[in-house]
Amino acid sequence: MGKWTPGDLCPQCDPMTGKPARIEYSVRISPRAKRVTLKFSPPGELVVVIPRGFKKERIAALIEERRTWIEKAFSKVLTSEATKEDVIPAAGFFLPSIGRSFVLEESNVLPRIRALAEEYIVPMGWNIADETGRRPGKFSIRNQKSLWGSCSSKNMINLNQKLLFLEPHLVRYVILHELCHIEHRDHSTRFWTSLRDLDPFCLTHRRELRSAQWTIPAWAY
Ligand SMILES: [Zn+2]
Repeated sequence: MGKWTPGDLCPQCDPMTGKPARIEYSVRISPRAKRVTLKFSPPGELVVVIPRGFKKERIAALIEERRTWIEKAFSKVLTSEATKEDVIPAAGFFLPSIGRSFVLEESNVLPRIRALAEEYIVPMGWNIADETGRRPGKFSIRNQKSLWGSCSSKNMINLNQKLLFLEPHLVRYVILHELCHIEHRDHSTRFWTSLRDLDPFCLTHRRELRSAQWTIPAWAY
């Protein structure tokens, strides 16, 4: 993707929706398969099973052909995962990012999550910024529907309050990702090289992040 114009936000910092512009998938070759099949295993991760001898170059076109079906299936996974946890547990909810449980109430759950993110995620951001020597103008917490984070042309970084529901290494990945946008305002090879210097497993973390979105409880949206 190309550069974005000043004033815009990074258009594609790890979208959280089930409708990514590019559909991510892994490929499995099955000696027993007679034709190509698509499945979601684990939920939220698309696996393309191909018969032996099937040309991998043909997969991209095949995915495009079935895009509508895939997007529908993605959103079905999201709904079924979400309904499992649509009630806030009274005994407290464990937030992996900070390794602690908190009692949350339905009446003010979103402001409370935001306050917790201000209290814990923003300082994490500054610590990581100090560590890397890349300092943004500001870290702000938002409840974005479709982005984990974004970095404006003035180097203002927005972080999604739902990061609280992720493991610490994924929160770190998102923060490092946005800090790298201070220097590289695109997702070019140079961007990924600079991110890999800070997080050697950034591509694995990016993949993990895509599956992690399905674990966020419905009441956090
Ligand atoms: Zn980005």
